[in-house]
Amino acid sequence: MSSSEFYNPEFEALSRAEIENLQLERLQHTVEHCYAGSRFYHERLDSIGIKPSSITSLDDLRKIPFTTKQDLRDTYPFGIASVPLSKCVRLHSSSGTTGNPTVVLHTQRDLEQWANAVARCLYMVGCRPEDVFQNTSGYGMFTGGLGFQYGAERLGMLTVPAAAGNTLRQLKFFKDFRTTVVHAIPSYAARLYEVMCEQGIDPRRDLALKTLVIGAEPHSEDTRKRIENMLGVKAYNSFGMSEMCGPGVAFECKEQNGLHIWEDYYIVEIVNPDTLEPVPDGEVGELVLTTINREAMPLLRYRTRDLTRILPGDCPCGRQHKRLDRMKGRSDDMIILKGVNIFPIQIETILMQFKELASDYLITLETLDDNDAMTVEVELSDMFIDDYGALQRLEKEITRQLRDEILITPKVRLVPKGSLPKSEGKAVRVKDLRKQYQ
Ligand code: AMP
Ligand code: ZN
Repeated sequence: MSSSEFYNPEFEALSRAEIENLQLERLQHTVEHCYAGSRFYHERLDSIGIKPSSITSLDDLRKIPFTTKQDLRDTYPFGIASVPLSKCVRLHSSSGTTGNPTVVLHTQRDLEQWANAVARCLYMVGCRPEDVFQNTSGYGMFTGGLGFQYGAERLGMLTVPAAAGNTLRQLKFFKDFRTTVVHAIPSYAARLYEVMCEQGIDPRRDLALKTLVIGAEPHSEDTRKRIENMLGVKAYNSFGMSEMCGPGVAFECKEQNGLHIWEDYYIVEIVNPDTLEPVPDGEVGELVLTTINREAMPLLRYRTRDLTRILPGDCPCGRQHKRLDRMKGRSDDMIILKGVNIFPIQIETILMQFKELASDYLITLETLDDNDAMTVEVELSDMFIDDYGALQRLEKEITRQLRDEILITPKVRLVPKGSLPKSEGKAVRVKDLRKQYQ
């Protein structure tokens, strides 16, 4: 691969040894910076007798305690920062479902580095200044808005801050501005197609779309393929979270086989969520990230709660930055029903293999006659013929496949297209009405 395929050849083309040397240098700098500037980290490192000079190898990172979302809540709003507030120019906040939200602060340099990371991701999948980029994320506190805005502008694309919702207007912009690249959460990509069909728009014939960036919520490989087939585009998986800035943390390359995590920005660990011991490459565990290119609010060994694994082996694209497998879900999204652990993505993976089904589904958990039960409602696609016998056979087959996968027999209900509630942001896939959860 020629270096013209890299946005930041000086970082993207590094060998493993070079990446690790740079990581150690940046880690040492980060720990010194946190120790000097953050009261939280100063006290935490003191409490276990660690000085910045104790970090002499990458393995020494494991001497440092984990940082958790609870730490961010406990120190809300500014307590983990490593610089004075006067050096900060932006904050983002993610709304927690319980207690305080979490706040992430950024200096001017942080914002520049963030924009660079997003530009690097977009360049990797073929975006160039000639492209027109339309962002359907919510703007404001949600980092998918401004994060992609500045990254796409940095790359030099004409960038359309369409923001979330108003699907008819999105489609008008696609047509009028000849949009070639779209950022959308996967559930919204499916919605865009639905409305195109209603409006008689054939994306291949009438639009210039060629690339979709999908992320922010877990989705299966079949969901990606559906989106690609519906819209006639290539769809690339984008992973990020507000605590790590937002988008730009890990992104698929053109191989579409795992998401490269930018190791000049982050040190990756995958740990067993129960023992917190590292697991070998290839094994699923919780993703733990240390930021090594951040000024306002570096985070040391942050427990993301996301479950994934490092894909072993080299990527044919030539980048040696490690690849993460698509996210399996979050440890806190796991459903425990009758003692069985189930991830919504397992259910999605089965459902999306049925061409008779559309993309929207809802899992409801409830207590019926003192027994916990699961109902899976899923929308039918348009192509499905209204034949009662066929519907029943289909329901039975879906139930059978779900039972084989999750070891529990759910009640499956096939519902007309468009009948499940739609959310503005990330799709809500699970409704838990069980007695103990009320
Ligand atoms: P937020 O901080 O609100 O942007 O949410 C970040 C969380 O969204 C992550 O911790 C993941 O759980 C989820 N997420 C983001 N990107 C992806 C993705 N590509 N696949 C699966 N989950 C994702
Ligand atoms: Zn690659």
